[in-house]
Amino acid sequence: MDLERHDFELDELVERIQAGDHKLVALQLPEGLKIQALEMIDSLESQTDAKLILAADPCYGACDLVHNKMQMMGVDLVAHMGHSQMNIDSGMPTQFIDVTYDGDPELSPILPQLHAHREMARVRMEQAQAGEVDLASEEGQQKFLDAVGRVAPLDGVKLGLVGSIQHLHLLSEFKKRLEDAGFEVEIPVGGDRLTFPGQVLGCNYSGDSPDIGHYLFLGSGDFHPIGLVLHTGKPLAMLDPYTGDASEMSLQRIERILRQRFGLIMASDGAQSFGILIGEKPGQMRRNLALRMKRMLEKHGKKGYLLALEHVGPELIDFYPVDAFVNTACPRIAIDDSVRYAKPLLTPFELEVVLGERKWEEGYQFDEIP
Ligand code: SF4
Repeated sequence: MDLERHDFELDELVERIQAGDHKLVALQLPEGLKIQALEMIDSLESQTDAKLILAADPCYGACDLVHNKMQMMGVDLVAHMGHSQMNIDSGMPTQFIDVTYDGDPELSPILPQLHAHREMARVRMEQAQAGEVDLASEEGQQKFLDAVGRVAPLDGVKLGLVGSIQHLHLLSEFKKRLEDAGFEVEIPVGGDRLTFPGQVLGCNYSGDSPDIGHYLFLGSGDFHPIGLVLHTGKPLAMLDPYTGDASEMSLQRIERILRQRFGLIMASDGAQSFGILIGEKPGQMRRNLALRMKRMLEKHGKKGYLLALEHVGPELIDFYPVDAFVNTACPRIAIDDSVRYAKPLLTPFELEVVLGERKWEEGYQFDEIP
């Protein structure tokens, strides 16, 4: 990552520290930016009277805000960098610091994929509008199956333009460029967990609508793209502002993930006891969902043990004498990391399939935190 090209917007933090006469401030950064942490601490301590403490535990999102443990240390302000505010209260005064990257990739390399994806969406939509398809029939349903096996007719073929947080400043300019290239573009507005139009998180793609037929993601890596396709079932092109690379999320990749998920469901068939993981991080805590899973297991004559953890890892749970786990903390722990665990690690939807409460054939249901 080219750190020189990131803009760390620290001025507002300096003003807030001075205005509030804060004396002990916790600085929390995502993993990729921690290499800059000590330099930032030097800069902030030279401009203010505050002492800075680096919150050095891993941090992967605004779901993971420094909370009351640091209050006990006397911290009176948290500076959280690189993520935006969510619909959660960590119990600590928190200043969110934007980080933006100045990369501005060429649009032309991604246009062939966008044209192909729009055509795929158009075929699905036109069949629905022509009334040619009997959705009650198996053949009709086949025509509307999305990438995750749901029957999901479209109302439109708009291009949904989304990005990860450090590239969101590019969206309005890219919307114009894409419109000039002949696309009808929507920057989706999601629910309370998302702060900005076009923003996506690994656990929330709530801006999706039936008007959107396909997506362009501005960002790097496949973490958000995998989640977006698992959630929406729609074709997704990717443009990386760091490298300028244009690519798409392959449907074979999504199929592989779905096969793996189905394998874990099959492996849990007959399991009698489950560990139910509850995340202790403020934005991952889904106590009610965990309790619902426990009640559901009991209804089916099985045991569910509630396990609360701040961090989830194989070394912390593999040894419990249960047959499988269901995860209600960060949904991506089950989706992305399950091969690291010795026993099946399921999402709540997948447990419902194991117990016969939901049907796999009706399509995959991504575990979203609203
Ligand atoms: S995907 Fe996981 S780590 Fe990222 S914001 Fe959601 S809960 Fe947090």
